[in-house]
Amino acid sequence: MAEQELNFSVSGKYAQYLNLWQKLGMILALSGTGIILITWGGVSLTNNAAWLTVVILSIFIGTVMFTYGTYAGKTAGIKNDGVYFRSHTARGAIGWAVGIVLTAFYVFLYWFPSYLGYQTGVNGTNEGLIALFDPLSYFFKGKPASQWFVYGSIYTLVIVSLGIKFIVKYRHNRYHIIRTISVMIAQLGLAYLVPEILAGMNYNDVSQGGEYLGWYDADLKNVWPLDYDFFYGWHLDAMQQKAYQPIGMIYLVWGILLFLIVTPIITYFVGKRWYCSWVCGCGGLAETAGDPYRHLSSKKLSAWKLERWLIHAVLVLVFLMTAVTLYGYFFNTGTFFGLEIYTYFQKPYGFVIGAIFSGIVGVGFYPLLGNRVWCRFGCPMAAYMGIIQRFKSRFRITTNGGQCISCGNCSTYCEQGIDVRAYAQKGQNIVRASCVGCGVCSAVCPRGVLKLENGPEEKRLGNEGPIVLGNDGFKIEK
Ligand code: SF4
Ligand code: SF4
Repeated sequence: MAEQELNFSVSGKYAQYLNLWQKLGMILALSGTGIILITWGGVSLTNNAAWLTVVILSIFIGTVMFTYGTYAGKTAGIKNDGVYFRSHTARGAIGWAVGIVLTAFYVFLYWFPSYLGYQTGVNGTNEGLIALFDPLSYFFKGKPASQWFVYGSIYTLVIVSLGIKFIVKYRHNRYHIIRTISVMIAQLGLAYLVPEILAGMNYNDVSQGGEYLGWYDADLKNVWPLDYDFFYGWHLDAMQQKAYQPIGMIYLVWGILLFLIVTPIITYFVGKRWYCSWVCGCGGLAETAGDPYRHLSSKKLSAWKLERWLIHAVLVLVFLMTAVTLYGYFFNTGTFFGLEIYTYFQKPYGFVIGAIFSGIVGVGFYPLLGNRVWCRFGCPMAAYMGIIQRFKSRFRITTNGGQCISCGNCSTYCEQGIDVRAYAQKGQNIVRASCVGCGVCSAVCPRGVLKLENGPEEKRLGNEGPIVLGNDGFKIEK
C-alpha cells in the first residue's frame, strides 16, 4: 500500500503529496508571511497601505485555499494522518525553524522593537515591519503603529485565518464549531477592534482640539491574574482619571468582579473551559495556530509533577507581587521593607513570567513542546480556575469504559498532556485541574467513549479517587 494512498508522508516528501489547492494556498500564505519577514529584515516599502492589504489578503485567502484543498470532498472527521512523520509537526528541521523564528520575533518584540523598525527613521518615524502597519494604525487612531499594535494585528489575523481552518477540520463536531467562533469573536472584537476603535475616538477628540470623551480603551475580557498589571498604580490611576469616566470606573469594578465573583461562579458551573477554550486570547492562539502541535505535549508523569509545581508557584508569585504592589499604592510608597517594588517585584515578574514564559516559551516553543505550554505550566489564571475545577465544579469528562478500544487517540491529542486513555480504560470520570475542556479527546475518540458534561458534584465525585497516571504506568494511591 503506497504511503500516498494512506495520506501518510515522511519527512521531506510531504510537498509532493499536496494537491493544487494546497500548493497554491501555501504559496499565497507564505508570500504574505515573506513580506512580513522582509520588512522585519529592515526593508521599508514605499506604499505600506497597498503592501499591508496584500499581506492580510494573501495570508487569509491562502489559508482558506489550503483548508479547501485539505478538507474539500473528504468525509468529516479528524484528519491527523502523518503528524508524526512531517518535519513541521514532528520536531523536524521545519518545526525547529518555525520555533526559532517565533522565538526571535518575541525577543525583538519585547526587548528590541527598534529591530522591527520601531521609531528608527528620520525624526523618530517607523521603518520596516512597524511602518508596514502604520496605515492601519492611522486608520484606527490617527497615529503611527507601535510594536504592540503590530503584534495585536498579526495575532488577530492568525486566530481568524487559522480559526476557519480549525472549524472546517472539526466540522463534524458542533462543540468545536461554536467554541472556535467564540474565540475568534473574542479576539477580533473584544481584544482588538473595540480597544483600537475606543483609542481612536479618544485620540481624535484630543488631537482635533476636542476633549476626552472617556473612551477608556482596554480589553474587557482581560482578567487578573493573567492580566498581571491590572492592579499596578498607573493602571488604577488611569481607570480613575476624570477624563475616562464613567467607563474607567466600569472597567475597574468589572475587572475586580471578574476575578472575584464571575470567574468562580462560571467555573463552578462549566469548568475552566469557559475561559481557556472559549474566550482567552492565549487559548485562542493555542487552539488555532497551535492545533498541528497538540500531540507534542508530554504525557510523562514527570511532566505532570512539574506542571503542578510550576503553575502553582506562578500563582503564588503573582499574589505576592500584587499584594506588594497594592501595599505600595495604598501607602503611597515605592518600597517594601527597603526593597524597591518595581525593581524587586514587578520587573522580575514581568520579565520572567510575562515575557519569557508566556511569550517566548509559551508561543515560540509550540513546535517543540506543544501548543499549551503556557496554559499548562505557567498561566496563573489557569491555576486559579484549575483549583476550583478540581475541587468545586460540576464539570467533568465522563468515560464509557466498556466501549474503549485503547487506541490512545485521546491521550495523543490531549494538549494538556492528560493520559485520557488510562481513565477511559478504568471507566473513571476525568476531573483534572489542568483540563481546559477543549473537547478534542472526545472529538478524536472513534468509539464515543468521552463526554464533556456538567453534572451534580456528588455524581462527579462518586467514582473518583486520587490517582496518579502517566505513560510510565499508573497506580492507585491509598
Ligand atoms: S482531557 Fe480532553 S478536554 Fe481536557 S484538555 Fe485534554 S483533550 Fe482537552
Ligand atoms: S480515543 Fe476512545 S477508544 Fe481510543 S483510548 Fe481514548 S477513550 Fe479509548
